[in-house]
Amino acid sequence: MQKTIKIMKNILSISIILALLFILYKVYKNNNFSEYIRAEYNSGFSNFSRDDEIRYSKMSSYKIENTNFNDAMFFKTIAVVPNTSYKVTCMVKTKDVINKNENTDAGAHICINETVEKSDNVVGTSDWTKIEFVFNSKNRESVDIGFRLGGNYDDSKGTAWFSDITIESGTADTSNKWNFLCLLFKETKVSVEVEGIKEEFELKLSDSDIYDMKLCINRFKDSMENMSQGKMKVNYDVVEINTPITSMSYDEENGYYVAPYDVKQTLDKYIRDGKYDHIFIAFRTGDINLKEEIPVNDWIGLGSMEYRNIGFSNIRLPNSASNYIYKYDERINVFPEEVYVHEFLHTLERNSLEYGYERPELHDYEKYGYKSQNKIGLSKWYEDYMNKKVKSTNKGLVGLPEDIFNKKPTKTSDFRYSRKLNYFEEPQNIIEELNGVYKNIINLFKVIEVKN
Ligand SMILES: [Zn+2]
Repeated sequence: MQKTIKIMKNILSISIILALLFILYKVYKNNNFSEYIRAEYNSGFSNFSRDDEIRYSKMSSYKIENTNFNDAMFFKTIAVVPNTSYKVTCMVKTKDVINKNENTDAGAHICINETVEKSDNVVGTSDWTKIEFVFNSKNRESVDIGFRLGGNYDDSKGTAWFSDITIESGTADTSNKWNFLCLLFKETKVSVEVEGIKEEFELKLSDSDIYDMKLCINRFKDSMENMSQGKMKVNYDVVEINTPITSMSYDEENGYYVAPYDVKQTLDKYIRDGKYDHIFIAFRTGDINLKEEIPVNDWIGLGSMEYRNIGFSNIRLPNSASNYIYKYDERINVFPEEVYVHEFLHTLERNSLEYGYERPELHDYEKYGYKSQNKIGLSKWYEDYMNKKVKSTNKGLVGLPEDIFNKKPTKTSDFRYSRKLNYFEEPQNIIEELNGVYKNIINLFKVIEVKN
């Protein structure tokens, strides 16, 4: 009898231990984010867990649930080879994902932490969807690849599941041939605030605007090839777009302008096959005859923007048809393509810095003794800037580095002969899983707060 009790006791304690172990295992499994770091902007608004039920393949998915509007992500630091093309893909499923503001570049997506480099977003309620994110490592040796619910400029609410993360490296196209796309938006039909009151605008490009823009982009091709002394070749397509621009972005410095996301629907159609290295969009924001004027802060072109790692510039038509800025005339203006040249140079200026080169600021021409001249504008400055022939007092000749003309955005064709990398591989069996336990246990409940 005594013996039976003892055995019963033993069985009971073994069962308790097993039950405890099982609970611990469950807790570990639900919270194990492998080597990913969890981060959120507003602390406590997001739950991170592994989901064994809603999953794409045999592995549990990674789940982010934003119970309130938040910017949350899990990321992993990976080593990269400088100046190399990379492609990260994953499967995403979402439930009730909404962004705080209308028309913003946020939702469930892949990104590089602390940059604006990102993939497309998944919002709303959607079944498993594949998303792709391409980037060039530029001068970096490591990057934090993030899987995010939210964004740089907006917060999201709802749930996103991520699964089957892969990464591959490709070969950057280092030819000096750049493909430009110039989209002529024939209509701007927006409602924007003028001194605190919403106003409707309907502005159109005239036939003569379209003629001027086509002439300018054609002259831009020749100018870039000649002024860079053959360092780059230009191909271009001009497309007249009938779909109006229906939303504009606003910031203190520039007033209203067209951010890439404002014309996303149109851009996505043209960037899908990865042909283009740079996009110009031309449009009108005012018309002196109609007495209509969207508030812009004195800019005629805006550059240094990016959409899905492709350079993006605004070209604004002047409010008056008698303005000669984009018109060729022997006596008045023989450099009507200047705004195009200037805005594209902003992209090369930015790229130079991101590839780790020092270069003068494009707007600092006066510091180096250049000034805008009649008929030819700043063409002398641009030419010296492109060819590193700007004389400086203490650094010798300065300007853009010669090989910046061979550093173009990453595109799909870079991955024709790609190499799979194993940074995001999940443990395939119990032994691999056990190997990771010690490392993962340290991170088990850690969620860092990001403030930017
Ligand atoms: Zn500028």
